Amino acid sequence: MQKDIATPNRTKDILKKYGFSFKKSLGQNFLVDPNILRNITEFAEITKNTGTIEIGPGIGALTEHLARASKKVVAFEIDDRLFPILEDTLSPYDNVELIHSDILRANIQAVITEKLSDVEDVMVVANLPYYVTTPIILKLLEDQLPLRGIVVMLQKEVADRIAAKPGTKDYGSLSIAIQYYTTAETVMIVPKTVFIPQPNVESAVIRLLKRERPAVDVQNEKFFFEIVKLSFAQRRKTILNNLQSGLKDGKEKKQLILDALSSADIDPKRRGETLSLQEFGALSDALLSSFPPA
Ligand code: SAM
Repeated sequence: MQKDIATPNRTKDILKKYGFSFKKSLGQNFLVDPNILRNITEFAEITKNTGTIEIGPGIGALTEHLARASKKVVAFEIDDRLFPILEDTLSPYDNVELIHSDILRANIQAVITEKLSDVEDVMVVANLPYYVTTPIILKLLEDQLPLRGIVVMLQKEVADRIAAKPGTKDYGSLSIAIQYYTTAETVMIVPKTVFIPQPNVESAVIRLLKRERPAVDVQNEKFFFEIVKLSFAQRRKTILNNLQSGLKDGKEKKQLILDALSSADIDPKRRGETLSLQEFGALSDALLSSFPPA
């Protein structure tokens, strides 16, 4: 087996050979520690029947680990300067396909149908570009793709918010948006020293495994997320006050909100950050008939 791309010396040689300069605006922080890459790959529990989607292969450091473990890897990269490099570094692997695209504009479902029809499960594994971590994860979940899960490196601060439990300072609408679709857990904290160049923030690897059904059954998903958003509009306000400011005006608005809170068994003096997903579900169902969405 050829020497890993991700050793500091080999990475520096590759960058020098191609005269590559990092673009900060594209979140280019490359991993140079094969152990971390091995761990990320293991956390994803990839098998030779897995189709793996990578976002941002860079010079292929993680891609080669994924290629060794998976049936097939499809990698989306936005920076065209990286393609000649990837063709060279990944030449030993015949199960990698590169797609030149912004992941946020890509039709991922079409790519899965076209290129990963013969696999048993699909995982997304990536060291994400930090300027767009949240939009990427939300797109992967909201597009309802047939994924088993997502294992990604991202800013530790965002990982903390995604995996947060009710009643903690990090718990908010992002925790709920992601835990609605997945079980979320931080599996590794990663120091800055394993990247070239080093990012300004601490990093973590998070594992999101898709639930078979959303965490809570709600009558209207869009309205549920709207209520969650309103409930966190001002974190210091009570749930009653946030709903009063956020919901549209009408006759006996306050009483209708109090009735809904009571039927969902939620004390109006509580703050949004203390409500579980199940409580938000019960609350949005109770509010739906009095505040129907336009
Ligand atoms: N996987 C490599 C590694 O771990 O060393 C590189 C990771 S680097 C943090 C992020 C990569 O994502 C870069 O290669 C960057 O060019 C790419 N990228 C940035 N924005 C992107 C986007 N919107 N769509 C696809 N790739 C993107």
